Amino acid sequence: LKTIAPPPESPPELSVRLRRRLGELAGPGGLLTEPADCWPYGYDNSRRQALPQAVFFATGSEQVRELVRLCYGERINLIARGRGTGTTGATVPDRGGVVVSFERMNRILAIEPDDRLAVVEPGVTNEALQQAVGQRGFFWPPDPTSAAVCTVGGNLAHNSAGPRAVKYGTPRENTLGLRAITGDGREIRTGVRTTKGVVGLDLTRLLIGSEGTLGLITEATLRLTPLPEATRTLQAAYGDMHAAAAAVAAIMAQPVTPCALEFMDGAAISLVRDYAGLELPAEAGALLMIEVDGPAACIDQALDAVRAAATVTGLLECRAATTAAELARLWKARKSLSPALRKIAPKKINEDVAVPVSRMPAFLAQLQELGRQYRITIVNFGHAGNGNIHVNLLVNPDDPAELERAEACLGAVFDRVLALGGTLSGEHGVGLAKRPYVDREIGPEALALMHGIRRQFDPAGILNPGKSLP
Ligand SMILES: Cc1cc2nc3c(=O)[nH]c(=O)nc-3n(C[C@H](O)[C@H](O)[C@H](O)COP(=O)(O)OP(=O)(O)OC[C@H]3O[C@@H](n4cnc5c(N)ncnc54)[C@H](O)[C@@H]3O)c2cc1C
Repeated sequence: LKTIAPPPESPPELSVRLRRRLGELAGPGGLLTEPADCWPYGYDNSRRQALPQAVFFATGSEQVRELVRLCYGERINLIARGRGTGTTGATVPDRGGVVVSFERMNRILAIEPDDRLAVVEPGVTNEALQQAVGQRGFFWPPDPTSAAVCTVGGNLAHNSAGPRAVKYGTPRENTLGLRAITGDGREIRTGVRTTKGVVGLDLTRLLIGSEGTLGLITEATLRLTPLPEATRTLQAAYGDMHAAAAAVAAIMAQPVTPCALEFMDGAAISLVRDYAGLELPAEAGALLMIEVDGPAACIDQALDAVRAAATVTGLLECRAATTAAELARLWKARKSLSPALRKIAPKKINEDVAVPVSRMPAFLAQLQELGRQYRITIVNFGHAGNGNIHVNLLVNPDDPAELERAEACLGAVFDRVLALGGTLSGEHGVGLAKRPYVDREIGPEALALMHGIRRQFDPAGILNPGKSLP
């Protein structure tokens, strides 16, 4: 872990009076102030870590409102935290402050099939939500690979998604309304309970993706989708990633939208081939996992349509996963990639850029060229249907020259992405990690407007300061 020392001006300890008031508000067992207890709440999956001044376990909306009012009065920073699985340092209290953990605020308040919605507290895990709504015949489309542990609050604050986003969208398309507390302790309710609504400005979509800088989300009304009747999965192996990228563009240009269109390059395949027992041609240099879903009566035609589109020059083999075991192997391979890479390269630089699907072949060719130019091994996989590629730069942490080359290579990768009309982050967000690059993508006028909006929500700048915007 990389420990970030708090800046000298931040108070090392909260005053006795404030600690007492926080303790009263939190109730028994609801506040941590000992450094040894607080450290575990000061890190995330970016492997950055800083010591919070206290950890407050939220249990209800009114209580959170009182907490914010108290900290607003004292100008104490508040950093919302789900389960710390974010990859950009967005929950790391690098400027000191109280970490507000939502892990105990994890109730599902309502599931209403007729209105296709669920009302939840932010600390419920994505998986617990899917299990509960699944029993009623529904799912919530955002499906990060970390679903077993990450929270809906974290999903909303990062606009996190996963394989299904290609067909069903991200939290922004699947959230009807929010309850949140602004940085000066105002409670706001945004959005609607209907699938249409145009009254006022869309604060729901503004809060989603704001990384805890505009408000603390205390409740969410989520839009549910009925579970599909049938699903089919294809595994398509290609000689190289250019052929696979061309297939992705062809699949996305025809009418049947797959519910997952995942991509692995040759280096990624070699990492998981044996581990997951993947049966692939020896010369496979890229793999697509293509899933379609829908009514049972039409599923075979849907499968035929995507199979036809996937059949481009360079295709080595395309076969349907017919058994549950085969399907499980395929998804295991895909989902084990990130942890497997972390094992061999603990200091890997893990990006999640997105480019328009039609430009993926050009982008992947440029990545290969950059890898050669900077002498960095680059492994790519990701949600190809959204043009969202996890670009992993493998670096040896004990080799300062290599680290320097990797940083330079990363800057060049971002420049290529933007030149192709892409974005620096498809789903992981900005946090601390990508903040220095944000002004390459967003112009000064738009950035100034964003800072102004932020001040409206958080006049004293106490909500997760220093994150997301440069
Ligand atoms: C193995 C692994 C796989 C992953 N796969 C994916 C993937 O497929 N797709 C993807 O998009 N991401 C993925 N991630 C990243 C991560 O899981 C997501 O960003 C996730 O949504 C974070 O949820 P969390 O509960 O851990 O939030 P945290 O990391 O605790 O917080 C994330 C952000 O949300 C804010 N926040 C949390 N709760 C609230 C709240 N109630 N109100 C306001 N702000 C809040 C925090 O301040 C922070 O800015 C993966 C991570 C890992 C470790």
